[in-house]
Amino acid sequence: MNIQVAAQGIENKRTIKKVKIAVAHGDGIGPEIMDATLKIMEAAGAQIVTEPILLGEQAYLAGNTSGIAPETWEALHDAKVILKSPITTPQGKGYKSLNVTLRKTLGLYANVRPVRSLSPYIHTHFPKMDVVVVRENEEDLYAGIEHQQTQDVVQCLKLITRPGCEKIVRYAFEYARLHDRKKVTCMLKDNIMKLTDGLFHRVFDEIAAEYPNIKSETQIIDIGAARLAARPEEYDVIVTSNLYGDIVSDIVAEIAGSVGMAGSANIGFRVAMFEAIHGSAPDIAGQNVANPSGLLNAAIMMLRHVGQTEVAKTIEDAWLTALEGGHHTADIYQEGVSVRKVSTSQFAEVVIACL
Ligand code: NAD
Repeated sequence: MNIQVAAQGIENKRTIKKVKIAVAHGDGIGPEIMDATLKIMEAAGAQIVTEPILLGEQAYLAGNTSGIAPETWEALHDAKVILKSPITTPQGKGYKSLNVTLRKTLGLYANVRPVRSLSPYIHTHFPKMDVVVVRENEEDLYAGIEHQQTQDVVQCLKLITRPGCEKIVRYAFEYARLHDRKKVTCMLKDNIMKLTDGLFHRVFDEIAAEYPNIKSETQIIDIGAARLAARPEEYDVIVTSNLYGDIVSDIVAEIAGSVGMAGSANIGFRVAMFEAIHGSAPDIAGQNVANPSGLLNAAIMMLRHVGQTEVAKTIEDAWLTALEGGHHTADIYQEGVSVRKVSTSQFAEVVIACL
């Protein structure tokens, strides 16, 4: 699959046949939001066959020290499409981030995170914001190359390659072209990291020149992130490296309403994985209060990717109707804006009733 096709998804398929989806229920709030999402997809008539896979804490407890069983890799390669709930990664110790391993091993080079305001139904200070963060997903400080130099000195390598930059920057411009977006902003710190971020910047300029109809600009990440938090309406598509992209996409989702709202696509040439942008939220796990919208939006992106555009639109419309009706989970509940505070499962029931 080339980058143009990857950016488009395979939306033009005519015959809808059942697509096999590997489904990871994840950790923390993962099982609750996955349950809600699968129920909505089933009620809407999504043509999918789900194959459960074990990732994260449960796999670890079953004796797989990396958080994934060897046979799960086979299932993942076989499925080609994965819907994944968040998984918990031990902080500062324990096994490596499985998310990072999955993205690298499966070649999921582009992480696409769209966020738009749903004002006046969801409270935000930025009613016109509509931003897509395209985050490089395999390199940078997340390449996982960390060393203990001495007892008191540790080192993490920032790895940036020309092919990696070319793939992600071209993906961002192709995404902009196919979705009729007007501007691509590149955010980097190349005033300090002249070689690594400098290479990304050079590649951005080279590829931007091939798209004269799309405006392009570069911003230093610190002031870029500050402006993004203050004036997100000025941004359209943002392309950036792995760590910066992880941070700015959470900022964008939070100022639009909640990190619980945004979904993401991890796109590779052979496999694609869809997930919420947020984590496993252990602070609210098991309470049936989490917002399933992030994972549901990821599922909508997934259905579009596999060509089931009509059912994707049906679910999206029902989801919007539920939100417009003021049925809000605790993270987005606001007196005067919301009508009813709903649980995870109640929100799913309202969406199903709106189908
Ligand atoms: P988090 O995103 O899990 O939670 C941050 C805050 O947002 C918490 O207060 C949480 O309650 C809230 N929140 C998140 N999702 C929500 C939802 N759907 N509805 C309502 N509120 C929601 O971030 P964290 O606490 O820093 O991380 C927890 C764990 O998740 C860590 O182990 C981290 O490594 C992991 N993580 C996993 C992924 C992934 O699997 N893709 C992504 C990010 C973090």
